[in-house]
Amino acid sequence: MTDPRTYVPAPQALAGRVILITGAGDGIGKALALASAAAGATVILHGRSVRKLEKVYDEIVAAGGARPSLLPLDFEKAGPAEYEALAAAITKEFGRLDGLVHNAGMLGDRAPIEHHDIPKWMRTLHVNLNAPFLLTRYCFPLLKASPDASLIFTSSGVVRHPSAYWGAYLVSKCATEGLMQMLADEVESLPQLRVNSVNPGKVRTNMRLQAYPGEDRSTLPEASSILPTYLYLLGPDSRGVTGRSFDCQPG
Ligand code: NAP
Repeated sequence: MTDPRTYVPAPQALAGRVILITGAGDGIGKALALASAAAGATVILHGRSVRKLEKVYDEIVAAGGARPSLLPLDFEKAGPAEYEALAAAITKEFGRLDGLVHNAGMLGDRAPIEHHDIPKWMRTLHVNLNAPFLLTRYCFPLLKASPDASLIFTSSGVVRHPSAYWGAYLVSKCATEGLMQMLADEVESLPQLRVNSVNPGKVRTNMRLQAYPGEDRSTLPEASSILPTYLYLLGPDSRGVTGRSFDCQPG
């Protein structure tokens, strides 16, 4: 297998695929939406800010990509019915789904357990863990029906080295890895559906700034530079690769 971190997709490698990316209005999700559209995919842009999603939409269309679809939803406030409606909207508009990237996430508090704000703990787990579960659950029939589908969960370096004060964020990411592995095992008999996770590593985004406000941001890679692993997993070259956790950057 080639190293996914240095993967270069063939032109139009994602042509014909419909791919839903959560948190596509900013950061890694936005960069991935632009790159997926450039590789030929029709992208469904989820986010909570319509204004941000419209900007991504405009960039994709200006670059000659297929017209994306916008699905705004605030995961903090949404319940099962909203996720079901989101999957129904995809079914109605496209009738298919070939990729689902669970990218949206929030940092929550970085504090000792005894000082954690309890509602914020709940919200962090809801956005980072329950949302991917609910979305996966309702999109599952579409993914199973695709001839070649890829489901990607977003992990973090905190899973590799769990340490103090990361709170609900760390717990949500460890649980996300468990969810990915469990699901990959459950769909073992479906070779057309692969389930993996990615750890982006340090990336120059709003979330990183929130986690490390004093950091020299000029040393951090741009989101657009860490995408080869995502594009590998979304495209035909990773068929059969499942149940694995990938690091997008060395070290
Ligand atoms: P980001 O720029 O802050 O983007 C996070 C995205 O999630 C934004 O589009 C945001 O929407 C969306 N989001 C947050 N809360 C939401 C909610 N309640 N409902 C719907 N969408 C919501 O951060 P990022 O660094 O690109 O993060 C992307 C993923 O990578 C996350 O899962 C994060 O944990 C993971 N990650 C990042 C790093 C890093 O160094 N950057 C490292 C390890 C893992 P808005 O634009 O409306 O805020």
